Amino acid sequence: MGYFRENIEKMEGYSPGEQPQGQQYIKLNTNENPYPPSPKVIKAINKEANTSLRLYPSPMADPLRRKAAEVYGVKEETILAGNGADDLLSIAVRSFVSTGDLVVLPDPTYTLYDTLVSIQEGKVLKISLTENFDIPEEIVKTEAKLTFLANPNSPSGILTPIKRITGFLKELEGVLIVDEAYVDFAEESALPLIDDYPNLVVLRTFSKSFSLAGMRIGLAFANRELIEGMAKVKDSYNLNRLSITAATAALDDISWMEENVRRVKKTRENLSLSLTRLGFKICSSQSNFVLARTPGINLKGIYQELKRKGILVRYFDTPRLRDAVRITVGTDDEIARLLEELSDIL
Ligand code: PMP
Repeated sequence: MGYFRENIEKMEGYSPGEQPQGQQYIKLNTNENPYPPSPKVIKAINKEANTSLRLYPSPMADPLRRKAAEVYGVKEETILAGNGADDLLSIAVRSFVSTGDLVVLPDPTYTLYDTLVSIQEGKVLKISLTENFDIPEEIVKTEAKLTFLANPNSPSGILTPIKRITGFLKELEGVLIVDEAYVDFAEESALPLIDDYPNLVVLRTFSKSFSLAGMRIGLAFANRELIEGMAKVKDSYNLNRLSITAATAALDDISWMEENVRRVKKTRENLSLSLTRLGFKICSSQSNFVLARTPGINLKGIYQELKRKGILVRYFDTPRLRDAVRITVGTDDEIARLLEELSDIL
């Protein structure tokens, strides 16, 4: 009807996983942490919920940047905070992509990348993952303005070794975003590479390992020039006072996060083993979720049946993923319930 830009009119919006409000589900569909955030975080938020809320927050989230610089061993100028990693993804696409620019994505991966590039009218080139869901060498296109790599990838959970990423960086001329939303559950990170590669952006989120999805906090790491440029594109006050406080407190209690990550990884190994025993093909996950496949058999029915029984998992209705469900690693009890229901259904 003409009010919208043509590309907005034509595109599909991003479709997030179900977030039921009020209904009680065992929620294994959007990779939240089953364990609560640190009590120190809750205390800090409560303390910050006072009359200072009438004042704007720090535009660059300075207390958080200072703390993050200390914890991650980088300079403050190499950090940009965001309202979730999604905000930083949106900032990055608006910073680096003009109409018609080539943007390369693996397929399948986090579907928001595609949506953000469509909004910006970039030209998306999707490179199919290998049979085993690995990243193929063809991901490297020298003409690309921007290349995305979720590492570990979603929904596979597979980690691309940093050695390979270094190889990609040596050839790429545009920006590479390594989205490390799940990296605390993995064995290695690309973060140390930001000093060596001026075209690398590494993203982190507090939504997964830090159990703070509801607070919306993310961090981008890159060399100073990239961070300064992206800062021009962000909203003036993109993190609120409570988020800055929560993230800073979370980084002050890293051992809380690490203990929860240890528990999740242990449950992940048990879950993967049990799913294999039930006949599923499993991608070897370094994340807080597992992709369980039954090659050639559509799993929509299983997803629906589990939902009917009060368990939400993620089903993607696309040709490559119809024979799979992505299961977030919950508590041991939640996973025991899931496995019980699954073996009943099968
Ligand atoms: N990147 C990936 C690969 C993700 O799966 C998610 C979670 N949906 C995000 C980024 C977004 O994280 P945040 O909650 O910080 O916006």
